[in-house]
Amino acid sequence: MVKNEYTESLATAYGLLYRIEKKQGDLASALAYHEKYMAADKGYLNEVSAKALAYQIVNQQVLAKKQQVDALSKQNQILTLQQSLDRKAAETSRLYIILLLTVLAFIALLTYRIKRSQLRFMRLARRDGLTGVYNRQHFLAQAERELQYCRKSARDACLVLIDLDHFKDFNDTYGHATGDRVLMHAVQSCQTHLRSTDVFGRLGGEEFGVLLPECGLDQVVGRVEQLRLAIATVADADVLDVVVSASFGVAATACSGYELRELLIHADDALYQAKNTGRNRAVVFDRMANLAREELRKSRVGTPAAAASQPNA
Ligand code: GH3
Ligand code: MG
Ligand code: MG
Repeated sequence: MVKNEYTESLATAYGLLYRIEKKQGDLASALAYHEKYMAADKGYLNEVSAKALAYQIVNQQVLAKKQQVDALSKQNQILTLQQSLDRKAAETSRLYIILLLTVLAFIALLTYRIKRSQLRFMRLARRDGLTGVYNRQHFLAQAERELQYCRKSARDACLVLIDLDHFKDFNDTYGHATGDRVLMHAVQSCQTHLRSTDVFGRLGGEEFGVLLPECGLDQVVGRVEQLRLAIATVADADVLDVVVSASFGVAATACSGYELRELLIHADDALYQAKNTGRNRAVVFDRMANLAREELRKSRVGTPAAAASQPNA
């Protein structure tokens, strides 16, 4: 069959021929033309509706494609937004990490500074403000610890108490500020003769304590003599003809044991003896001599003459 066989004009022509034949009275021919007219008209209408259908299909297809393109472009937009969201999220987490690191660094710095000032305060709390040696409390704690080590390892140790002589008079004569300088110089002079293991502290005022580990009775006299001479040669550039001396009381573990309290009592007793026998000297505690002195004192207190001379005793 030829394409586009049925056209509108063909159907119209058959219709015209049908009416002409009918008018002329040739019914057989009119019927033939009528049939052709009907077939052409039907074919024409079929073609028209097929074209309309094809048009609708194409139209729908175009619409579907357009919707597909729209959907794809929407998807693309979503992906672009998603990407920028991801970028922003990455940026935010980077900022969080930086913030966290900054906070951590700040905390670390703060901790370091607190620790440093804590250590500084601890150091200051252990030291005497004027001379820089241990204060009384820390000296006693350190001496106690050192004595425990010596006891455990059966090593000798000696405790030395140092008291500057007539220091009140010295202050009255030269002034308190000069007295302070002399105290500092006395400490520095002593330090040049002390070992790193020796414990040196200011017990108060013009009184100092030294614990000498690994030092027995045989060595202590020589070592204390070094300290005595060191203090006696203290010279102050601003004060000419300054005479400074100190008295020393010594107690040894060999005689007094390793208890710090006992050593302090015995060293103080020896210092008292040094002061009483002329100052600027060292006295080593001697238990026997001490007992003899005690006996003598008791016997003197017991006599009526002594009792009369000490009415308030
Ligand atoms: P003694 O020989 O009997 O020890 O006599 P002393 O004068 O040294 O003893 P006393 O205990 O009577 O006086 C101690 C003096 O030490 C009194 C005080 O003015 C002085 N002193 C105490 N602490 C300091 C100080 O930090 N600086 C100064 N410059 N003097 C001090
Ligand atoms: Mg004194
Ligand atoms: Mg004193």
